[in-house]
Amino acid sequence: MKLLKQKVMNEGIVLGSGVLKVDSFLNHQMDPVLMREVGREFTRRFAGEEITKVLTIESSGIAPGIMTALELGVPLIFARKQKSLTLTEDIFVEKVYSFTKKESNEITVSKKFIAAGERVLIVDDFLANGEAAFGLARIVEQAGGSVAGIGIVIEKSFQPGNRLLQEAGYRLESLVRIASLEDGRVTFMEEDEVLPG
Ligand code: 5GP
Repeated sequence: MKLLKQKVMNEGIVLGSGVLKVDSFLNHQMDPVLMREVGREFTRRFAGEEITKVLTIESSGIAPGIMTALELGVPLIFARKQKSLTLTEDIFVEKVYSFTKKESNEITVSKKFIAAGERVLIVDDFLANGEAAFGLARIVEQAGGSVAGIGIVIEKSFQPGNRLLQEAGYRLESLVRIASLEDGRVTFMEEDEVLPG
């Protein structure tokens, strides 16, 4: 995804501790044309998987998630980070450690939105240690559904999430893969580096 790579290259800000800030197109202000392309690309990559729902986590996963769901013609569900005050027996709950906030959150999804036998595509903005993706996958599995795949917009390949998800047998598709954020600059995994400008 050339457009995405260019955006990461030109607008991404490397913070210390391995965090990339992309709040001009993904995490605060959102670029709808780019999000539409992300949705189309995930749909192309997961064609044939017979996906019945897309599942993400609030809030930054919602934009790529909804565009993917739109292209696939299925609903999007976003897991909530705060337990709803309504009946707890009606929700799936999983604990997820947040890489950026350095705290554990309970994520919840209402039981009425994932049925047994459902084929769920998990979508998220970033992959670091895989905590969010594993938490979402556990919710799908609690519901008796199966994970059709995991689609990540920006993978930080120098962190263990990629390896852990593949070892667990999930099909992972990441649209850009970052090899390093050292010295304040983004280095991509692929050889076709994008020139700034
Ligand atoms: P993981 O659960 O894989 O450890 O981390 C992924 C989650 O943490 C994503 O949902 C994302 O919100 C957040 N995250 C992880 N690394 C980064 C990063 O470098 N930049 C931003 N903006 N979010 C990140």
